[in-house]
Amino acid sequence: MRALRLLNWKSEPELTEVDEPSPGPGEVVVKVGAAGACHSDLHLMHDFTAGAVPWNPPFTLGHENAGWVHTLGAGVTGLEVGQPVAVYGPWGCGTCPRCRLGIDPYCENPAGAPVPGGGGGLGLDGGMAEYELVPDARHLVPLPDGLDPVHAAPLTDAGLTPYHAIRRSWPKLPPGSFAVVIGVGGLGHLGVQILKATTAARVIAVDTRPDTLRLAQEYGADEVMVSSDGTADEIRRITGGRGADVVLDFVGADPTVRLGAAVARTVGDLTIVGLGGGTLPVSFFGVPYELSIQTTYWGSRPELIEVLDLGARGLVKPKITTFDLADAPRAYQQLSEGTLEGRAVIVP
Ligand SMILES: [Zn+2]
Ligand SMILES: [Zn+2]
Repeated sequence: MRALRLLNWKSEPELTEVDEPSPGPGEVVVKVGAAGACHSDLHLMHDFTAGAVPWNPPFTLGHENAGWVHTLGAGVTGLEVGQPVAVYGPWGCGTCPRCRLGIDPYCENPAGAPVPGGGGGLGLDGGMAEYELVPDARHLVPLPDGLDPVHAAPLTDAGLTPYHAIRRSWPKLPPGSFAVVIGVGGLGHLGVQILKATTAARVIAVDTRPDTLRLAQEYGADEVMVSSDGTADEIRRITGGRGADVVLDFVGADPTVRLGAAVARTVGDLTIVGLGGGTLPVSFFGVPYELSIQTTYWGSRPELIEVLDLGARGLVKPKITTFDLADAPRAYQQLSEGTLEGRAVIVP
């Protein structure tokens, strides 16, 4: 079968011919219906070197996947061949306290996982191929009626990651509150929709790209603004001088984390989701009183079930551009140039 593989660090992925996987006991092979192209894949290709993560190439890219059950390994029950499924992407050990709660990204026994701190497309073969081997049936979530693999795939990361970040801030988003979304790309455009679907907060979207802000407006953002030197003052003005209850930074660069701290309200949340590598000095008088500053990484399996429900009901709809497997390099090109609207999805 064809697979888009990262063969070495600091290289472009290559379309190669590999053997079709066959499932061992407890494993499942999924016929891939769709695999999202994630901005973090660009970091894998261009920034990582040996030792940065506990695994190395070669592996097939694609860590947000959905498709249909193709073959079941010995002992797998509860799934049927042909059934549409989403693949929960982070693959932990399955038995530590975090994994038992379905929070595999924070697995506390990485040595017991199929690959430490990774999953399909992150150290092991992912979904940018005709078939994907999933090492444990518990990573498959049946798709609810009304959701096809092409729209489900981006929800497993580009949807799940903002959903997790927003869900933990729900208590701070009652009617009358404000949420700021910085960066309306693959994750942020879904973040806007998730805020509108699950909270009563007014949503302010900030980006450098006017086209992208039009997309945010389409998805219900109450205010949109092209970021400039005046952005912090503008957000203070809109929020009656109080600041935003919750700021979600989907970029995570120096200027965006600083903007986040500048516009956050006392007792608010500043959540850094983007991998931009920015740093923020934190001191007693340097940030608003009782501001909680946190990072989040991906989401839990129960949260994936919830976000798929939002997708099936049409409350959260990824904006998608589809590409053939052979065309995947063009998707990554557009992603790195920032010319892509929403999410690129590879349909093998
Ligand atoms: Zn990702
Ligand atoms: Zn674990």
